[in-house]
Amino acid sequence: MAADTHCPYCALQCAMTLTATDASAPASTTDATSPPVAVAGRDFPTNRGGLCKKGWTSAELLASPSRLTAPLVRGADGALNETTWDAALGLVADRLRGIRSEHGADAVGVFGGGGLTNEKAYLLGKFARLALGTSRIDYNGRYCMSSAAAAGNRAFGIDRGLPFPLTDLDDADTILLLGTNVAETMPPFIGHLAGAQEAGGLVVVDPRRTATARLTDDGRGLHVQPAPGTDLVLLLGVAHVVIAERLVDEAYVSARTTGLARLRRGVAQWWPERVQSATGVPAATVRAIARRLAASDRAYILTGRGVEQHVDGTDTATAAINLALLLGLPGRPGSGYGTLTGQGNGQGGREHGQKCDQLPGYRKITDPVARAHVARVWGSTPPRSRGPGCPRSSCWARSVDRAESGPSWCTARTSSCPRRTSPTCDAASSASTCSSCATSCCPRLRPSPTSSCRCCSGPRRRAR
Ligand code: SF4
Repeated sequence: MAADTHCPYCALQCAMTLTATDASAPASTTDATSPPVAVAGRDFPTNRGGLCKKGWTSAELLASPSRLTAPLVRGADGALNETTWDAALGLVADRLRGIRSEHGADAVGVFGGGGLTNEKAYLLGKFARLALGTSRIDYNGRYCMSSAAAAGNRAFGIDRGLPFPLTDLDDADTILLLGTNVAETMPPFIGHLAGAQEAGGLVVVDPRRTATARLTDDGRGLHVQPAPGTDLVLLLGVAHVVIAERLVDEAYVSARTTGLARLRRGVAQWWPERVQSATGVPAATVRAIARRLAASDRAYILTGRGVEQHVDGTDTATAAINLALLLGLPGRPGSGYGTLTGQGNGQGGREHGQKCDQLPGYRKITDPVARAHVARVWGSTPPRSRGPGCPRSSCWARSVDRAESGPSWCTARTSSCPRRTSPTCDAASSASTCSSCATSCCPRLRPSPTSSCRCCSGPRRRAR
């Protein structure tokens, strides 16, 4: 027996076929540690039959002896004991009811994830807002693509990860890749870079000599290595050259954009030699990137978390979009701007109502018309869906500040939080934030409350 499906792990969603390995054999004769299904790559536009190691080994999880197959409840003696689903769910429901009646609905937080399907993300949001009545729901995309989403909303009024099929990249003669290492994170992706490589137009911006950077070797492109944290300056410098050398797509810009004068003023101070002194990228390279992009018929600019997850990440993503707009790329066949989604359903996850400020369909929770619409669909009244909650990190900080002991309902399958499988994660009670990057981490991710931040190595302080 075989079933066609997709790899659950990353946004490439590679197609695969699962085949039962030995369905006819009696259980007593099969090896309990071998996966019950075999994985084979299947032809699909994103992966063209290929899979990475994560996909090939995905079925091994099914036979892992450490896989939980039944709920466990900790007894008074501290030991975990197996129980039935009815008993476990009853216990969770009782605890949630008790906490809500004692501390109020907002004492319960819900944390979703980009690994959830659209349907699960939708249901999680509805469950939080109607059943629990809490405004405290957010998902791990808060740390992932928020900068890119904010930049997309700022520039286009909408947040779309990759607004074109991946196969569109195949015909590109220039691709500017910033802050992403697809050769390691989603290897089948690199097949879509072959056209740009052949044209000598793959430009990889990364301080590190990554596997993706090495794809530019042998005349297939350019590896640009700005000093860490200077991606924004580099992009402003490329935009400066585009404007200074009159490479702007004037017809496109005047027909489809506003604010060119402000942009001109913003990039005026970033002439190539000054960019060189700030980033370490030679002025000639800054000019070469601008000229290459402008001379290409089919050019794309793609950003990833490496340039987006900085304190100025929203501005960096905005600068990449502005550069694309100056060149007339978005909306032109064979060209465009996109931000690469990481998790299996990062985009769908944030479209279906598990962000603290959004109802399903990207509807702002503060918009009375949107609230009324969703309430009608849910068969409730608008006041039942509470107002905006707070982003995950500040939610946790506030919990600490108010000494709340309420649980978080954690569903982040791919989160690095080691307590992600616990339905009642009380990590909030000892969360701390980094004074350099404002990241708030699960206390179990760091050896002591005062140790360095795992994101930026900055000093930590107790959340206030
Ligand atoms: S590239 Fe992503 S979707 Fe494809 S097999 Fe690897 S983890 Fe799965």
